[in-house]
Amino acid sequence: MKIADRVQQVPPSGIRRFFELAEEKEEVISLGVGEPDFSAPWAARTAAIDSLERGKTSYTANKGMRNLRVSIADYVQQWGLDYDPDEEILVTAGASEAVDLAMRAFVDPGDTVAVQEPTYISYVPGIQFAGGEPIRVPTTPETEFQLTYDALRDAGAAEAEALVICYPNNPTGATIDDAHLREVAEFARDHDLTVLSDEIYAALTYDGDHTSIATLPGMRERTVVFNGFSKAYAMTGLRLGFALAPPEATQAMNRIHQYTMLSAPTTAQYAALEALRSCDDDVVEMRTQFDRRRRYVLSRFREMGMDCFEAKGAFYVFPECGGDDEQFAEDLLESQDVAVVPGSVFGDGGAGHLRVSYASGMAELKEAMNRIEAFVE
Ligand code: PMP
Repeated sequence: MKIADRVQQVPPSGIRRFFELAEEKEEVISLGVGEPDFSAPWAARTAAIDSLERGKTSYTANKGMRNLRVSIADYVQQWGLDYDPDEEILVTAGASEAVDLAMRAFVDPGDTVAVQEPTYISYVPGIQFAGGEPIRVPTTPETEFQLTYDALRDAGAAEAEALVICYPNNPTGATIDDAHLREVAEFARDHDLTVLSDEIYAALTYDGDHTSIATLPGMRERTVVFNGFSKAYAMTGLRLGFALAPPEATQAMNRIHQYTMLSAPTTAQYAALEALRSCDDDVVEMRTQFDRRRRYVLSRFREMGMDCFEAKGAFYVFPECGGDDEQFAEDLLESQDVAVVPGSVFGDGGAGHLRVSYASGMAELKEAMNRIEAFVE
């Protein structure tokens, strides 16, 4: 069969390649995964089971169940986000689907889209599948991986149609402070960019509150916010996320969604509804655990003399490994049976770093850190 050029030009995921190496070995401790080690809250799981018992196995409205959209509208108020459940919220199969819809809805062939790097691995392929081209905007440890006006200008982002940002960030764990966020907003306004803001880790912010770029002056009308249930509610396998955007943009994404997905998984929508109704305490508990582990892992890296800026969100730290990160990760796996992800997988600015996920139990984390220390020594 002829494979489309658009697909052939996108290389396979570098993370996958690394996991395949890890899978060949037994007894590996993996700090490589990008998902919570917790299960979804019990109440959410029960609601999913109940819905199945009641025979709720049909499609829902294209945009998602209305009561879920109303609950999402309430939920995002905690970040000052104010969206109409009927016109401005689209429930999707994970934030992943929302990202893909946005690329296809807002990018024409030949358009350029600016992307901060290092960042989550799906955006650049999403741009390319839509026929667009990425403009990579480096962020560095000097600014704690925060985007700046100058970095955007120097990378040529002024020419782009859209800008993708992700804070709290995967893979660095970086958050963005208000001053830097204002710079990014100013740049977007000055150059009339649509901003695609992936805020899936908003609920996992450990130092201060998350601020959404959509709440800054002049930004709501040019921003699409992505969020979902995978991280905050440990529901990765249920595949449920959502997009928040002004009516016209929501309609455009729904135009694609109604043909390609019809509706997000129904069972997962029932689980999400209950998660929003009764699982706040579970989120607080998971966040507290993650924060404890975050501080532990950071202190261990510093004790072994590896530079590591203080990641304040998500569940990753991004230490410098001083040299070839792929070689470091392969040797660490080979000699100590610990899997981490080489930073260069996440774009140029990631080279010389490792993405270390602390979404593992404390006992496992301790053992892994002991082994990394032995390796470094
Ligand atoms: N965005 C980021 C930044 C992520 O890290 C992930 C999951 N690794 C996703 C989106 C995808 O989330 P979902 O499970 O909701 O599709």
